[in-house]
Amino acid sequence: MELRARLEEICDKIDGYHPNPDLDTLRDAFEFACAKHEGQSRKSGEPYVSHPVEVIDIIADLHLDVASLVAGLLHDTVEDTDTTVDDLRERYGEDVAFLVDGVTKLSKFRFNTREERQAENIRKMIIAMSKDLRVILVKLSDRLHNMRTLKHMPRHKQERIARETMDIYAPLAHRLGINWVKTEMEDLSFRYLHPEEYFDIAEKVSASKEERNAFIEEVTGMLRDMLQEHGIEPEINGRPKHLWSIYRKMRDQQIEFEQVYDLLAFRIIVDEPNECYEALGHVHRMWKPIAGRFKDYISIPKPNGYQSLHTTVIGPYKERVEIQIRTREMHKIAEEGVAAHWLYKEGKAVPDEDDQQFAWLHRLMEEHQDHDDPREFLESVKIDLFHDEVYVFTPEGDVLEFPQGATAVDFAYGIHTEVGHQCSGAKVNGKIVPLKYELQNGDIVEVMTTENQRPNKDWLQFVKTGRARTKIKKAVRQEQRERSRELGRELLNKELKKHGTNVSALERDEELTELVEGSHFGSVDDMLADIGYGKTEVDDIVDKLFPPQEEDESPATAEKSMSRLGDLWNRITSQQQENAGVVVGGIDDIMVTYAQCCNPVPGDDIVGFVTRGRGLSVHTRDCDRVAHLEKARQIDVEWDKDATDENAARRAVDIRVHSADKQGLLANMSQAFSAAGVNISQAHCTTSDDQRAINTFQVLVNNVDQLNRAMKNLEKIKGVYRVERK
Ligand code: MN
Repeated sequence: MELRARLEEICDKIDGYHPNPDLDTLRDAFEFACAKHEGQSRKSGEPYVSHPVEVIDIIADLHLDVASLVAGLLHDTVEDTDTTVDDLRERYGEDVAFLVDGVTKLSKFRFNTREERQAENIRKMIIAMSKDLRVILVKLSDRLHNMRTLKHMPRHKQERIARETMDIYAPLAHRLGINWVKTEMEDLSFRYLHPEEYFDIAEKVSASKEERNAFIEEVTGMLRDMLQEHGIEPEINGRPKHLWSIYRKMRDQQIEFEQVYDLLAFRIIVDEPNECYEALGHVHRMWKPIAGRFKDYISIPKPNGYQSLHTTVIGPYKERVEIQIRTREMHKIAEEGVAAHWLYKEGKAVPDEDDQQFAWLHRLMEEHQDHDDPREFLESVKIDLFHDEVYVFTPEGDVLEFPQGATAVDFAYGIHTEVGHQCSGAKVNGKIVPLKYELQNGDIVEVMTTENQRPNKDWLQFVKTGRARTKIKKAVRQEQRERSRELGRELLNKELKKHGTNVSALERDEELTELVEGSHFGSVDDMLADIGYGKTEVDDIVDKLFPPQEEDESPATAEKSMSRLGDLWNRITSQQQENAGVVVGGIDDIMVTYAQCCNPVPGDDIVGFVTRGRGLSVHTRDCDRVAHLEKARQIDVEWDKDATDENAARRAVDIRVHSADKQGLLANMSQAFSAAGVNISQAHCTTSDDQRAINTFQVLVNNVDQLNRAMKNLEKIKGVYRVERK
């Protein structure tokens, strides 16, 4: 069809729902788009402008305002022609410019590339949605038309676009409650993602078409006659379920096409809500309902606003049929979703914070602020936005939505963060259940709280929502940090006592603040926490506060002692960069200290011991003390992969060498260390009258192999009797 005629056809459609549309501006935008895309064509060979024209046909089906329609016509001009956003602003105003800019940006996103980029893109999309929902509605229309014409694309692009549509855009349409866009997107994606299965099911559905149409007519007729008898004038239609939902049923239940019952869904549309329940009663009297399949989404609407009664009955010929009953108004919302909300109202479509329908969007917005790690964010969005959901009730009858598999703890966090933190038990339908109980549709859930309860790290093993996961991690981290800080303060106080002072006094005199300012620590609290975590040695901090005095105050030694302090500072810094270095059950932010008695080095066989209040103390497995430690509190730990790396931070170990008291031996020893790549940080020698010497070295090593190498080198030196690791 000639494009102008097609445009007029769409204008008629707009006239049908919009009270006074500015169609002249729309026609002007059409001419503008034609001029700009002049000479460009689609893969199908049609002039390019046919695409934006068909996009606005979809936008008109969504009953959107004129700004959205104009933006739909112009949505590719900024990307594909010399038009700028400023040009559009000047010609069509701020709204259109904003929408086209938004859609252009969304079009550049790829949702299936590297995870981090993907996360960032989804984040931007959610922000764009919360600013103006029309952006995403225009984008959905654009994508739907591209899916309808996907056959002209090369194979590899078909797959990528279909995957992205299935993973991101169809769930978004579902979330926004626009059912027809969701189902069409799913079936179109299905066709390109699993062509064999798609055509197989499509063929089977159409093979039984005649038979089915007769059945549909029979059921429809029976329902109409029966309801009219009771004074209800219903609108009834029946249709096969969409192909993707049939396929999903086959796949999820591992059944053949022939075993899929209720392939047909009937819809009874009435005038009044009370007629819905009345009609349901009559249907159940005529045909036996299947237990457990009745759902009342009228008294408890789905979070996306959907309302309807659902039931499955055993109809004529013992066929199962699904029946949905709703009013005309509910039907409109079921099909149009969010678009039914403001219709032709002009102006920005910013979702109202109080509107239940957008609670999920606000929650996502609020939540993403808690995520520093884009991958964590992505994980939480994928779970919260793109999962099958279960609906459960609070004791007050409010409905809450959760991803499939969510637990009582997820529910508690869904109510409120504090309820989650303090939750100590749960009752479902009046019975006490374990905290990891998986919520089922229709459960009435009550959370029991205890004031002293704290979030448990074990909960991370079973919670499903991003919200609960984030909040628990944060709380656990915070608590560990607080404990570490207290411990750090305690440890530092103990040392400071020798110098006649304490942390509070130094804080008062701002000495600690000064010390921290010249260091890598962000704050005094950071420093105390690092001491508590065992990342920083107390001695190093004390040395920094009270530099060890040399007897001789000559400038030369002063300088020397300055450079020694410099070394010390470097050491503190390098230890800071080290993470704890061991992994416990996959959690790497646990507070870890290395036992002084055996001083384990990466590569040593190790075991962890849960101390009271000092986190985890790590011993070598053959340490004498391990045998005396309570068995119940020993846990398996492993070195972090990176900890044994050559680039990892080094650990300090003491080596004692028994040797002859002989000139030049010390030089040989230090050579033995450096040959193994080991640095000496401290050395101490004592000699006895019988010409023997005991040399104690503190050395920095990467791992146990390196240490053993150094010890072997030492043993080879003539005059060395014995080498031992302390
Ligand atoms: Mn486009």
